[in-house]
Amino acid sequence: MKTITLDEPFKLSLGESSLPSELAANEALVKVHKVGICGTDLHAFAGLQNFFSYPRILGHELGVEVLEVGVEAANYDISIGDYAAVNPYFHDGECSACRQGKTNCCTHMKVIGVHEDGGMRERFIIPMSNLYKADLNLSQLAQVEMLAVGAHAVRRSRLEAGETVIVIGAGPIGLGTAAFARLKAKRIFMIDISPERLDFVEKLGLAEVIDGKEDVVAILKEELNGDMPTTVFDATGNAKSMVNAVNYISHGGQLVLVGHTKGDLVFNNPAIHSRELSIHCSRNATVEDFKTVVDALKSGEIDVEQWITHRATPEELVENFESWTKPETGVVKGLLEFV
Ligand SMILES: [Zn+2]
Repeated sequence: MKTITLDEPFKLSLGESSLPSELAANEALVKVHKVGICGTDLHAFAGLQNFFSYPRILGHELGVEVLEVGVEAANYDISIGDYAAVNPYFHDGECSACRQGKTNCCTHMKVIGVHEDGGMRERFIIPMSNLYKADLNLSQLAQVEMLAVGAHAVRRSRLEAGETVIVIGAGPIGLGTAAFARLKAKRIFMIDISPERLDFVEKLGLAEVIDGKEDVVAILKEELNGDMPTTVFDATGNAKSMVNAVNYISHGGQLVLVGHTKGDLVFNNPAIHSRELSIHCSRNATVEDFKTVVDALKSGEIDVEQWITHRATPEELVENFESWTKPETGVVKGLLEFV
């Protein structure tokens, strides 16, 4: 079967590997149809990803079809032929975070496609507890994990109806965050420094847009009659943006850091203290968030059909991956398709 491996930074190769066999009672063999490409994959490609070793099979945003099931399938309500999204997170169920129900930040978190081999291969074996079967198309299923990260950030914020919200960073995670935040917010702004991305947000009708290179504080004050937004999500992973975001937040408001960076964040204490600012980190997603996403896609409350800007076969992906890392290529969401 075709398998794409990231051998080392900047070296993606397409090869053949043997078919998996030997299903455990709680496992399923799945055929991978669609793989979403995300910032983590691009970072790993560029050699910038934390806690990452090579060689690695990437791929953690997956739309799959169940080909074979272990003997416990009935316990998981999984059958041959089901289409499913994949929860790529593996938690230990025992640590302090897991005991608090916060499996998304398990002390021993392992993510397939990051810490272990992922889904850029035609078939692989996965525990059935990590499959979410749903009556969605395979492209939608491949976007469930990405959206779950946004849904989790919004749930983490405890956003209330009628708030004014900013999402900084209009990549896929920012878009996912905005898609869920706008279901509650009175007004929602997205800030980015890429004109192409701002145009894309406007075209989707997802949020009002502000060019991050402009005087954002002045624009907000004018738009909001001197008030500032109460909840700001930063989905850039850029330390400068994350720290500067404080200036866009109302007194009594909150900052949710969805993106993350390797470096230190140094906040100005008067700026955060005068606001009595709450700063939250948001990491991965839980089962509850995956369910929220599947329901929102099913009901049509969230529609991601237009978010896919690029599709590639395995051969094309290996050939063109480097170009997908460049902003001028205009990739918002790229999909690898095994056909
Ligand atoms: Zn744990």
